[in-house]
Amino acid sequence: MQRFTLLLTCLLLTIFSADAQELRGLCGNTYEDQMSQIDRYRANMKVAQLQPSKSRNAITYIPIQFIIVTRNNGSGGAKITDVLEQQCLLNEQYGAFDIIFYQADEPMVLANDVIYTDHTKTSGNFTMRQRRNPQAMNVWIVDDATPQSGGPAIGITLGYYDTVNDWIVIRRNQINGTNNTLAHEVGHFFSLFHPHLGWDAEPYDVNVHGATVSATAPNGSNTELMDGSNCDNAGDMICDTPPDYNFALSWTNCNYTADVKDPNGVKVDPDESLIMSYFRDMCTSKFSPTQVEMMIADVNSNQRNFLTRNDYTPVAEEITGETTLISPIESEVTASFNKVELKWTAVDGAESYYVEVDRSSSFTQDNFKYVVKTNSLILEDVLDADRNYRWRVTPYNASYTCVPTSSIERFRTNISTSVPSIGTVNDWTVQPNPVSENADLAITVNAKNAFIATVKFYNLTGQLLTTQADVRFEQGQSTTQIDKGQLSKGVYFIALENEEGILNKKIIVQ
Ligand SMILES: [Zn+2]
Repeated sequence: MQRFTLLLTCLLLTIFSADAQELRGLCGNTYEDQMSQIDRYRANMKVAQLQPSKSRNAITYIPIQFIIVTRNNGSGGAKITDVLEQQCLLNEQYGAFDIIFYQADEPMVLANDVIYTDHTKTSGNFTMRQRRNPQAMNVWIVDDATPQSGGPAIGITLGYYDTVNDWIVIRRNQINGTNNTLAHEVGHFFSLFHPHLGWDAEPYDVNVHGATVSATAPNGSNTELMDGSNCDNAGDMICDTPPDYNFALSWTNCNYTADVKDPNGVKVDPDESLIMSYFRDMCTSKFSPTQVEMMIADVNSNQRNFLTRNDYTPVAEEITGETTLISPIESEVTASFNKVELKWTAVDGAESYYVEVDRSSSFTQDNFKYVVKTNSLILEDVLDADRNYRWRVTPYNASYTCVPTSSIERFRTNISTSVPSIGTVNDWTVQPNPVSENADLAITVNAKNAFIATVKFYNLTGQLLTTQADVRFEQGQSTTQIDKGQLSKGVYFIALENEEGILNKKIIVQ
């Protein structure tokens, strides 16, 4: 009986999770959002007819600012490596027509619970306006990307273009090297509409719209015809994107074959490869030629002037090399735990290195993540003593982020600390050692220069017992008598300390 209940539970869970998957993730831009940009859309469409791409003879570089929002405690944010992979994918998609995105600044990490969970709250929006990069296309990576409008009632918002603030908000799980959500939202940023415009909130349903669709789309505009006769006055009003009545939501593969007829009775054949459609990421890969021309027209328009910097070309060198970790590697034990220097090989073309250090193999346990501009990094007062750590490095530059992460190396931190010594001291001795309880100690120092230090005695647990300040040691060899106070029998440390550093030795009192 128990077994049957378990089976039933499993079955129910399977059904529910299948259901959950059916609630599709969608773009948050509604019909109304898009139509609020209609003047800009039409202006770009007009310029697009002149084919501005033909008059270009160079790559257009667009500054992008990624803002990774985390919880207040720093947890939950998108991974930098995923952001780099996302930028790499975006540049493959837009590089096809010579638009390359470069990091206006390193990805910003913003710890803010409000923006992370509900960026539409007034306080969150205020902070976002303050923190945005005014000279870049801003991409906010949050946990919940639902817009003020609530987004599409028919799905979960994966991302959207905020037409009021002119930025993109995207769900963190969409940021990676495979999803097309960002490419889609960037299309909106550059003024594009959905090819299924008018059907955004009411996808085609045979039970509602019939096998032959009526001449009026759900939003009241014309239903786009297969023969192209109303292509400039129906759907997205672009003639090289065929009719699409938002079929994607009821379709799981990349070849739409349902027998749906347009108002003329012609079988509808949408373009499943359009990034601006709702077909699944595995199906979409491109923009239509007119869409490309419209985006270029938008980039060239006055309202996008803030994106172009005269006489500035970002670093965009393709990085072909990979980095190799030099030290510490192969589980070696470091000299100390509180100061560990990581070194790796420099890579031609790399401006930045993203360094991750962690106790877990998934690199999720600790938050030791750094962006550095050189091929070494000193971790001071960061790591715990006597622990195994893993580390890896990802090189990149502002525009080229497709470089693989290094292999992972391991090391173990020592139990001892590293402290700076007193550089002027060549060597020193303490005598006698062992010393009897009532005898004084003599310190003999061989120093390059005279110096002053405090002489301290500690017990083995590091507790300070006696202090003798301002003891002067002469240049060359000198011997100074030290009163060790009332130390009982046992083992102690005697230390010379000044602002330059510390020297210490173990002594035995008997
Ligand atoms: Zn959209």
